[in-house]
Amino acid sequence: MHSLKRKYLEHRHAINDGIVLGASAICTFVYAIYFEMAELFFEFSRKHEEWELDDIVLSFLLIFSFYLMIFAIRRWKDTRLLLKKAYTDSLTEVYNRRKCTKTLLLEVTIAKKFNRTLSIIAIDIDHFKKINDVFGHAAGDHVLKTLSGLVKNEIRGADTLFRIGGEEFLIISTETDLSGATRLAERLRSLIEKYPFGKIGGVTASFGVAEYESGDNTDTLFQRADKNLYEAKETGRNRVVC
Ligand code: GH3
Ligand code: MG
Ligand code: MG
Repeated sequence: MHSLKRKYLEHRHAINDGIVLGASAICTFVYAIYFEMAELFFEFSRKHEEWELDDIVLSFLLIFSFYLMIFAIRRWKDTRLLLKKAYTDSLTEVYNRRKCTKTLLLEVTIAKKFNRTLSIIAIDIDHFKKINDVFGHAAGDHVLKTLSGLVKNEIRGADTLFRIGGEEFLIISTETDLSGATRLAERLRSLIEKYPFGKIGGVTASFGVAEYESGDNTDTLFQRADKNLYEAKETGRNRVVC
């Protein structure tokens, strides 16, 4: 009962639409039979053969179906656009925290059910507050954009980058074990360290890596990566801890 309730809450708009549409269809059907609409139509059509009513009705139905199809495609496109906006960080144009939560839950479920390998990498820019304080908020924004672009270009198709906080990012790396994810993190660390950020000079980031282990849920997996990130910060920053 509880799960039914949950399902209803999750999909209540679609369910309500379905109920209204179903009820209208039943009413129309009953109404058509009750008033013998088909009979009336054929009789009228026979009396006025010069009108070619069948063709008119058929053409109307075709135009109506075509219009409905266009309407449905437009609604589908709008929904896709809205979903894209809801899941994208406006500054860096990478996926946001909302999408991260959803994707991590899905990937952990897949790893659990199908025994697949999964790793995550937590990234936090070092002394970012200082960059804002010394060079201004716009320069900080520029670093966030450039760094996400760099990371996005470097990762493979099986990896996804998310901005999960101010200067915090997460990579979900499917089909990747701890050593593969650590190698990727090290590559990214070195790339960021070497990249010339203009007047800001050197920017570095710290990395915490964790691999899915049986019995993990999204929280325990994320906490392990976060704990490693914390250790990377504590032991001097600009490093990878796994
Ligand atoms: P640490 O090396 O320990 O990570 O230090 P930190 O300075 O990077 O970390 P802290 O959490 O102290 O500061 C994060 C700063 O990030 C504070 C906040 O003003 C800034 N910030 C958060 N979101 C944005 C943003 O969208 N743009 C800019 N420019 N700054 C942001
Ligand atoms: Mg931080
Ligand atoms: Mg930081």
